[in-house]
Amino acid sequence: MPSVEHSNHPSNEVYLDNNATTKVLPVVVEAVNHAMQVCYGNPSSSHITGVKAKHILESTRGLARKVIGAASGEIIFTSGATEGIQMGIVSSLLTIKDQMNNNQLVTDDCYLLYGSTEHKAVPNTLEHWNKALGVNAKVMAIPVNDKGLLDEQFIEQYIGKTLLICTMAVNNETGVYQDLAKLERVIRTGNEDVFWLVDCVQALGKMNLNISDTSIDYAPFSGHKMYTPKGIGFMYIREGSPCIPIIAGGGQEGGSRSGTENIPGIAALHRVFSLLLDEQDDTFKSVAQLEAYRQQIADTLKAVFPGVVFNHDFDYSVPTTINFSVSGMFSKDLMDLFDAASIRVSSGSACSAKVTHSFVLDAMGADAWRSESAIRMSFGPASTQQEIDRACDALKSTIPALKHACLVMSDMHDDGSEGQLKTGFIELQYNNCCCWVYIDVDTRECIIIDPLPQLTARIEGWVICQKLTVKAVLDTHLHFDHEPYNRTFADIVMNHIPTDLQLTDDNGWPKAVDGQVTIAGKHLLPYVKVGALKVAAVHTPGHTQESMSFIFIDASDTIVLALLGDLVMPGALGRTNVPTSSPLAFYDSLKKLAEVLQPDTLIGSSHDYQHKFVTTMALESQGNALMASVLDNTISAMAFKDEKEKLDEKLVESTGGILCGVVEVDKVDVPYSLTSVQIGEFFEQHPQAVLLDVREAFECEMGDLVGQLNLSGLTTSDTQALNTIINVPLTKFADFVIHAEQYKDTPLLLICRTGTRSLLACQSLLRLGYQQVYNIRGGLALY
Ligand code: PLP
Repeated sequence: MPSVEHSNHPSNEVYLDNNATTKVLPVVVEAVNHAMQVCYGNPSSSHITGVKAKHILESTRGLARKVIGAASGEIIFTSGATEGIQMGIVSSLLTIKDQMNNNQLVTDDCYLLYGSTEHKAVPNTLEHWNKALGVNAKVMAIPVNDKGLLDEQFIEQYIGKTLLICTMAVNNETGVYQDLAKLERVIRTGNEDVFWLVDCVQALGKMNLNISDTSIDYAPFSGHKMYTPKGIGFMYIREGSPCIPIIAGGGQEGGSRSGTENIPGIAALHRVFSLLLDEQDDTFKSVAQLEAYRQQIADTLKAVFPGVVFNHDFDYSVPTTINFSVSGMFSKDLMDLFDAASIRVSSGSACSAKVTHSFVLDAMGADAWRSESAIRMSFGPASTQQEIDRACDALKSTIPALKHACLVMSDMHDDGSEGQLKTGFIELQYNNCCCWVYIDVDTRECIIIDPLPQLTARIEGWVICQKLTVKAVLDTHLHFDHEPYNRTFADIVMNHIPTDLQLTDDNGWPKAVDGQVTIAGKHLLPYVKVGALKVAAVHTPGHTQESMSFIFIDASDTIVLALLGDLVMPGALGRTNVPTSSPLAFYDSLKKLAEVLQPDTLIGSSHDYQHKFVTTMALESQGNALMASVLDNTISAMAFKDEKEKLDEKLVESTGGILCGVVEVDKVDVPYSLTSVQIGEFFEQHPQAVLLDVREAFECEMGDLVGQLNLSGLTTSDTQALNTIINVPLTKFADFVIHAEQYKDTPLLLICRTGTRSLLACQSLLRLGYQQVYNIRGGLALY
């Protein structure tokens, strides 16, 4: 077996995700090692080794007091902030429960308040213990304004009946800090007794807290956001505030938190606190220095993405966090780009099937596109000028790839020569909706089918950057609840649509066409030409009355792709219970399509609920008995209508009417899944294999695959395989399949960043009849 070198830790990594966690500082590692190997005793032991450990424990507690300004109150070591949050919330709720039992309190119309931009650890803990302990107060989010600051009037209104209020010092997604002194006045004016928990995780080392000068009852902290290993944190509890243990046992931490203390973790905190308190030490930078770093990164972002918007006011934020959005790019695109460029950042909360939203930006009332495009870059108080310079260089290195993919609008008025889009179909998906674009780079023509407002900026960028003529903007069908999107988009790109094609019907189909083509000997269809292809329109009513299908015909009169809108979708038949639906017309349209298309003609749709990308009439008939019975003439139109109505009823029941068709789930397994260590062996056994890189072109450009796979140890015959690397981004999956007949029996090895996209592509290829499809599990990430 050839030797394949592994390089898991690219030295060029730029880590800008310090709000998620930090790399442990070398001096902290030393302290941890010392605690593990020299002061390894149990602090409860009375011998000298134990006493040494106890000394670390108590001296760290003393330093913690100084760092957060807690002359009074308790400091209790925990496993991290989530545990501290439990401790504060459970202590408050059990005390409230006690008062309920003594009949001093009825909680039905009382509140547990939390800021709407809190880390999920807070509301989820509130909900959980409110229910589990039977407190049954109303858990309610406090709104924030567009700067992310808590609504004081709201607090004023409810605080009188509030039992516990949870707020945060600094937000983890935006770095926005609250004015705690002002908040305290509002809270205490309205309620002297309410318990107040302040999540201080993102404030540690970034601002002065003087916590025991405040009336904050509980303040959880976490070590791993401040250069210690994970699994250590601490909790401040105000003098006199209840502390009811959630972990009972040997009575450590004065009985408040049992279990042998995590001395290596505490030693790590000790080192960090010592550095924070040492005025001579420059490990942790001044606020002015950190602000200069932020400005440098923000300026670089403006140079890389001229349309960048920052999602928070720097005047109300700690300097180490920058949250921004780029018009025309979703968070996922930006994450893919940055990861390929070895820049580690983070987006809003992840959600696999849907476009990622940031609930924090949503709470701040940001436009949806900003929330869907949000990226958080966070450096730390110990970042160095050299690291920031490297980060900025890495950011600038993405400019060519962005220009080639027409993703930045900066030079759109320049010559446009830097755009490197290729001739072919592109499918953009947004929350299971599909928009199709066909571009011909030779004639600089394009056609757009089913545009979505969320994708407009991206497509407009292509049109401008590649100086495209838009032959038509088409909707396969209209929607009763909004204006046709084709019109909105056509208005945006009006200058790029030839005058004679501007007059259209409601679907956007031009009145003046290039000619007519006869299909299957009897269907005479109007067409417009886009490059070398004819795009013909077929009226296929059923889902709605005006539904159209658009079929793309090449020079040899073969249909290369048919876009059927909501009629036939991968794994689904379109619904026929919306206004202007007709199951009988639907039946006729299926029959008509069966004549126009071949059983194996590639079909694209306006929804793709299962990420299959494309389908065929033959494949749909295999998985859908009703469809099969129409195509083989074993069901009458009336019987079809009855069956279809029953199906549509089920759809509404099960989905509340969100889906546009009844989806059959037929997941195909990928029989061949390779781990990274098996790749060398694979190439040895399959020298004729082809590697399909399913990352987007801009990612491939940033992260050269052969370089990253580091297959330098392979023999010549093995590396032959690597000569055949094909870039098949998921957006161009259909385009690949159109031209990939010759690969039906070739071993295909698919790879992407994390193995998720390649798995989807593998499943689709197998379904389409490709025989030997292999996935690299974990993708480049685990290589
Ligand atoms: N609160 C905030 C604001 C955070 O950023 C985090 C970590 O992401 C937590 C709480 C949870 O902290 P831990 O990982 O120590 O449990």
